[in-house]
Amino acid sequence: PSSPFMPRMVAVFLIHLFDRGQAVHARRTWYRSGMKRFHLIVALVFAALLTTACRDEAESRQAEFYVFGTLTGVTLWDVHEAESQRAFARLQETFQGMHRDWHAWQPGELTRVNEALAGGEEVATSEDIVELVRRSQELERLTGGRFNPAIGALIGLWGFHTSDYPIIGPPPERPEIEALLAGRPSTLDIRIDGLRLVSSNAAVQLDFGAVAKGYAIDIACAQLRELGIDNAIVNAGGDLRVIGSHGDRPWRIAVRAPGGGIVGSLETGRDEAIFTSGNYERFRQEETRRYPHILDPRTGWPVEDLASVTVIADEGLLADAAATALIVAGRSGWREVAQSLGLDQVLLIDGSGKVYLTGRMAGRIELLDGIESEIVEFATE
Ligand code: AMP
Ligand code: MG
Repeated sequence: PSSPFMPRMVAVFLIHLFDRGQAVHARRTWYRSGMKRFHLIVALVFAALLTTACRDEAESRQAEFYVFGTLTGVTLWDVHEAESQRAFARLQETFQGMHRDWHAWQPGELTRVNEALAGGEEVATSEDIVELVRRSQELERLTGGRFNPAIGALIGLWGFHTSDYPIIGPPPERPEIEALLAGRPSTLDIRIDGLRLVSSNAAVQLDFGAVAKGYAIDIACAQLRELGIDNAIVNAGGDLRVIGSHGDRPWRIAVRAPGGGIVGSLETGRDEAIFTSGNYERFRQEETRRYPHILDPRTGWPVEDLASVTVIADEGLLADAAATALIVAGRSGWREVAQSLGLDQVLLIDGSGKVYLTGRMAGRIELLDGIESEIVEFATE
């Protein structure tokens, strides 16, 4: 639906309409006739008005959805009303389906898959879940196991299979953690055969909490594209993906900061995803001690080194998984992991609120005044 095209067609149609009555005897001389010229002017004014009307109609259209407990705004640009309604209805269905099928603890498709994996049985499942496993295997390998969605049992043991935060109470007993660690769950224990999965390790329990939102947003963007929508932003509380642009301007978006605020803003490029992981929203609280919800799969304990990590990548799934993995990698290890994932747009915030950025990220973000920051030497080869 290219908006300048429509009014042009309307103008042509109007001129044609005005012309038709006298077409037979006046066709050759119509441009000399004062009346005709008047009609032409009326038609052009009409077309100009329609251009503005269509432009207004073609501006942004918004809807909100709940995606894994986060209110997610979808903005479409340059799309007509009926089309946007169709797109929003499709997204609603898609998001609902994912919520039902990918849930790590509410009984559904994934819990059914997990039961089969634990029992060593082969199980046929959906394309989405198979793709999540396949991509997770690759990402678990590339992050040296810092990102590992096979640790569902450990996440459950810590009480993080809930939507009610904070959780109050002491951490699990050390032997319980050690027992689950000893099972060495890994997505690499899963064998994929078409749409069938089987695990050679009964300790594998899938929990896609660290990538589901990213993948959901990727799928939503792909569906919008299928519907012929080329300019859109899907924003789940600051975790987002952009396709196309915002008219002739880029979208300007806020970058989240620990504690719910923002650290700055940046203009998005065409087709990129921006995700932030933090240890400040979801945690277990025991008196003054906090245990955040991101675990180091190698120790079984929450990681606390960094308060948040923001990653820009060209797809949501990668950005989401990477943000989680870099939190686990911490201040000493994030460079190596970012490099291995081929990412060079990273922003980290430490416990004191200081911001560290890669050069490429520094070139894009406009930090709020008064934020202490440091550009770190970093290059991808
Ligand atoms: P995110 O907010 O994207 O960083 O994802 C955090 C969620 O991912 C947690 O609530 C857990 O469900 C899960 N999770 C925690 N630690 C890890 C990890 N190291 N690898 C994969 N998933 C994790
Ligand atoms: Mg994540």
